Parts: sequence; structure tokens; C-alpha cells
Amino acid sequence: MKYFIIGGGVAGTTAAEELRKRDASSEITILSEEHHPLYSRVLLPHYIKGKIPRERVFLKRDTWYAQQNIEWIDGVLATHLDGRNKFVGGSDGREYSYDKLLIATGGETRSIEEDLRGVSYCRTLNDADQFLQLLTEQGKTTRGAVYGGGFIACEYINFFAHFQIPITLAHRGEHFWTRNLLPETGKLIAKHLIKNNVDLHPNSILERLEGDKELEGFVTSTGRYAATILGIGIGIEPDFSWIREAGVEVGTGVKANEFLETNIPDVYTAGDIAEFDDPITGRQLQIGNWMNAMTQGRIVAKSMSGERTSFQIVSSYATNVLGLEIIFVGDVERAAAEEIQVIGSIEEGGITQVFERDGRVVGGVLIGRNTDRTPITKAIQERRSFREISSSFS
Ligand SMILES: Cc1cc2nc3c(=O)[nH]c(=O)nc-3n(C[C@H](O)[C@H](O)[C@H](O)COP(=O)(O)OP(=O)(O)OC[C@H]3O[C@@H](n4cnc5c(N)ncnc54)[C@H](O)[C@@H]3O)c2cc1C
Repeated sequence: MKYFIIGGGVAGTTAAEELRKRDASSEITILSEEHHPLYSRVLLPHYIKGKIPRERVFLKRDTWYAQQNIEWIDGVLATHLDGRNKFVGGSDGREYSYDKLLIATGGETRSIEEDLRGVSYCRTLNDADQFLQLLTEQGKTTRGAVYGGGFIACEYINFFAHFQIPITLAHRGEHFWTRNLLPETGKLIAKHLIKNNVDLHPNSILERLEGDKELEGFVTSTGRYAATILGIGIGIEPDFSWIREAGVEVGTGVKANEFLETNIPDVYTAGDIAEFDDPITGRQLQIGNWMNAMTQGRIVAKSMSGERTSFQIVSSYATNVLGLEIIFVGDVERAAAEEIQVIGSIEEGGITQVFERDGRVVGGVLIGRNTDRTPITKAIQERRSFREISSSFS
């Protein structure tokens, strides 16, 4: 049996590891665009802030792959898939045949059209190295700015604050996470940012950058702002043209059933790229968190090796912005919820939104109220209504 895995992030590598545990003799190959062995993206902010040394972000050494008898091909992009004849074409010009294929290509960062030295992204270890390099070069002359209103924007705000660099923040929407947060919850975050000296500009659409080779500022629909580093956090935009051309069904991600099988026989998907049927919430979900990617890697390996297993986990993403705790659990799409219950208020300094569909809890957004995480997670798992758990909240 030949297992071929595209993407050497946590989903792909965990799948390879699990496949090897279950099958000592089969061929297992990981094709990885990046040159680094598996590292933790979750630890990148800790590395940037100097809380851990660079080597601590690595979760595998490059010797690990050979020890596990896993072929690791780095620096090569999959560019073509032939699901009928079962091979993958690589940017190295080679064709790789497979019996079972896993697409675990994660989320490519959405970029802005222009580029100048000082424009920064935050997805890979190379991005983190580049950000630190910019800080070293610019020293005290650094003017920090962030474009975006989501998780990566929070990271950039925390980085600049950590280095005591003034921060300008511009985002397109009225507030952070407009697809998930009610206006009141958005206001809570905005108030916290303003209180902590962030120069905040909502409803701002980026028009152009200013500077010759080096960034000096940027212009949005609401004004012109000085900046020498502009952190971009405007979501992910994977390139799956080659996957679509192969007849694999794609939506916002690679579509799959609850067993993480795509519509093409012997082609599976896992991690940030997977848009899977979630039996718990009863909807197709695409989730971008570490626990989801790692667990899907483990579960998909079972299915690929013959023990067809349904993926059923309630995962969450926890972070903070300037000390304000933020947690997303389960399905937090406003448009897909039938009701959203609100606990707390701006005055109390914390708001939890509980998302309900078909009379049961399917998700929660917790801002400054992290103790609500356990009851909400349990309610989603046990398919309970908000009314049944409402006494758990103070
Ligand atoms: C800065 C940062 C902080 C984060 N913090 C948290 C956190 O606190 N908590 C949390 O739960 N989650 C966090 N996340 C999210 C979490 O890291 C991701 O959900 C997780 O890493 C996804 O893993 P993955 O294996 O699906 O994809 P990825 O880690 O994106 O791996 C996919 C790999 O596939 C490669 N690839 C893509 N296309 C191809 C191709 N065609 N051919 C070959 N290779 C390809 C990519 O280069 C990449 O190396 C954070 C993410 C970032 C960037």
C-alpha cells in the first residue's frame, strides 16, 4: 500500500505518524511545500515575543521521518492531481503514484495586491523570522500597523504591544469577526483596544501602500496612516484550482463527509483545508484550529487504513488580545444560527454568545468569560438546549 500525504503540517504529519503505528510496512510519503520539519504554528507568537527560543517551535526533528520510515519530500508543491490514474504531479516535475491520498494543505494566507519591505504575514516560521528581522532593522523607528479583524490581527496587536510599539489598526468591517460577533460583542473588543491605546479605524478598506521600496504608510477609505511594518491578517485563501480540476468537490475548503472522504475514491482530506460534515452540529464546517487539525489527522489515518471512523470532536480556539480572553467553540457562524443567546455585557467586561440551531447549542463565542467554555462544550457534545444549561452561567 502506498499512502501519499500532501502537506506536512500537523494534520498531515499526525496522519503519517498514525498510519505508521497501524501499518509497519506500507510506503508513506509526505510532500511538503515548506522546508522545515513539523513545527507548531501555535508557538510562533511565543517565539516572536522571545518567550521561547526558535528551536522550541519544532515538534519533529528532520531525522524523525527516516526513523519512522516516512519519506519526507520538502520544498515541493503538489500542482496536479489525477484521481483516475492515481497520481499527483509535483512542482519538481515528478509524478507520484498513490493508493490512498490525503490532502492536508492547510490555509494559504490571503495576501494584499501590493508588496513593500515592511508588509508582514504571519502563517509560517519564515514569516515569523522575517517579522523579527524587520524589528531588528527598524529598532526604535518602527511604527506598527495591522490590517484585519480576526485571530492574526490579535497576534500582531499583541506583538507590537509586547515591543512597546504604537499600533494603528484598520479593518474592513464595523468590528472584529463580523461573521460571528453581534455588534455589542464587537464593541466590547473595540472598547478594550481603544482603552489600551490602539488607534482603531473600522470600516476601512485598504487602497494602497505608500513608500518606495520600504513601507512608509498606507491609505484606506478612512484615511492615511503612517507605518513601517504592516501586519496583514485578512484570512486564508487556499489555492485549490488543481484540486478542483481533478473533480474534487470544493466549497470554501475541500468537501468531505464525516469520515473525511472526498467525492473521489481513495482521496481524503484533513485539517484547516477540510470542509467536512459534522454530525454533532449537523452542518458542513471548516475549522481552523490546532486540536481540530491534529485530531482529524489521527482519525483520517484510521479511515485510510481500513477502519472507517467518523470525526466527532468539539474543538476550540483560545487566544487573547491585550489580555482580553477570546474563545471560539464549535459552530459560530451567525448566519447559520437560529438563535444567539447573550450572557454578560460591556459594563461587566465580558460577553458570551451561545449559538443555537434546531433547539440545541452548536457553538459559543466567549469574550472575557472563559469559564463558560466547559458548559458550552458539554452542551454541544450532549446536544442540549441553552435552556437546559442556562443555570451554569453566572
Ligand atoms: C500564528 C498562528 C497562531 C495560531 N494560534 C493558534 C492557537 O493558539 N490555537 C489554535 O487552536 N490554533 C492556532 N492556530 C491555527 C493552527 O495552527 C492551524 O489550525 C493548524 O496549524 C492547521 O494545521 P494543518 O495541518 O491543517 O495546516 P497547515 O499547518 O497550514 O499545514 C499545511 C502545509 O501544507 C503545505 N502545502 C499547502 N499547499 C501545498 C501543496 N500544494 N503541496 C505541498 N504542500 C502544500 C503548506 O505550506 C503547509 O506547510 C494558529 C495559526 C497561526 C498561523
